[in-house]
Amino acid sequence: MNSTPHDLAARFTELFGGEPDGLWSAPGRVNLIGEHTDYNDGFVLPFAITHSTVVAAAARADRTVRVASTFAPEEAPLTVGLDDLEPGGVEGWAAYPLGVLWALEQSGYRCPGLDLLVDSSVPVGAGLSSSAALECSVALAAAELSGADVSRSDLAAIGQLAENRMVGAPTGIMDQSASLLGEAGHAVFLDCRSGSSRLVPLDLEADGLELLVIDTRVSHTHSTGGYAERRRSCELGAELMGVAALRDLSVKDLAEAAGVLDEETFRRVRHIVTENARVEDTVDVLTKKGPSALGPLLVASHASMRDDFEISCPELDTAVNAALDAGAVGARMTGGGFGGSAIALTRSADAPAVRAAVEGAFSAAGFHPPVVFSVLPGAGAARIA
Ligand code: ADP
Ligand code: MG
Repeated sequence: MNSTPHDLAARFTELFGGEPDGLWSAPGRVNLIGEHTDYNDGFVLPFAITHSTVVAAAARADRTVRVASTFAPEEAPLTVGLDDLEPGGVEGWAAYPLGVLWALEQSGYRCPGLDLLVDSSVPVGAGLSSSAALECSVALAAAELSGADVSRSDLAAIGQLAENRMVGAPTGIMDQSASLLGEAGHAVFLDCRSGSSRLVPLDLEADGLELLVIDTRVSHTHSTGGYAERRRSCELGAELMGVAALRDLSVKDLAEAAGVLDEETFRRVRHIVTENARVEDTVDVLTKKGPSALGPLLVASHASMRDDFEISCPELDTAVNAALDAGAVGARMTGGGFGGSAIALTRSADAPAVRAAVEGAFSAAGFHPPVVFSVLPGAGAARIA
């Protein structure tokens, strides 16, 4: 849990001796819509949330890194040399922060030795990208302490490189972009091909809405799960359709794809193609009508992930159905799938009933109780002390 900046700085001093040079914060994210489209060069529409990871950091005169997290309070800091970092060389959670330092140097910047203490309020493994929050807080701290002027989009790429190579998770650029580019009251419309992004108004409070995150507590694993398999299906689909990426197909190309692809690959492709269209439609709806008109797009997105991409699970389907039955405006699973969280957009007045209905449905189905909480679009990564 996020301690106060003062407590975190005190803990840092206890652990490492000196005082931190500063504290850097980076948020988790919720993806409003656009699932598995990022690595297909497509569109995503995440927003930064008010839950964040904070790193207290101090530069050192040597090439040593010491890293600790309140996530594993019983453990002493891990000590490594910057020159000893290599893909596959770091086990466990430290692969994320150390991977970022490695990736910074791979990208041509010289990283100083560092003492790092991490603290987070982003639930881990709930589909809210605690991993990107961790990467981006460390990337921002290390870049600033290195004295180099690294752009936010380069920092996002550095976080992604760390996760792909040091952690070994073949994830796209969405999570880091949301964490670094988000703003309160806005979502980030990101074109994953060009890397360009634009803020889209998402002022839920002004419309009397809130967004519930329903953490199913079913754990997902990117490196070993179906994520890599879905990615391969998409690559195969693009190759067989003769395009560089599925981004290059539109809904009207699906009739042709049905004749070219095997049945399963076709459904995978159809999800990506229709999901890209739904992201563009969502931006349009948000701009012209506001978030209360998003229900049908969220519901269609969930059906596509459940039936075509097959990345839902009974807990996620139960959460979505119960929320909709209890009057939610819209609901869908979010994140990579196979567990993690669903989101339910509800009128604030209906939120208690939606929450109770989801909890009741989980209990009736014999599932572990979900953790339900409300999120708001929050600020992007920044130095906070
Ligand atoms: P998600 O990003 O959806 O939360 P991931 O599996 O991608 O899930 O990333 C979770 C992993 O990130 C954790 O298992 C841990 O290794 C690392 N992590 C996240 N937050 C922290 C933290 N505060 N301290 C240490 N490691 C963390
Ligand atoms: Mg993650």
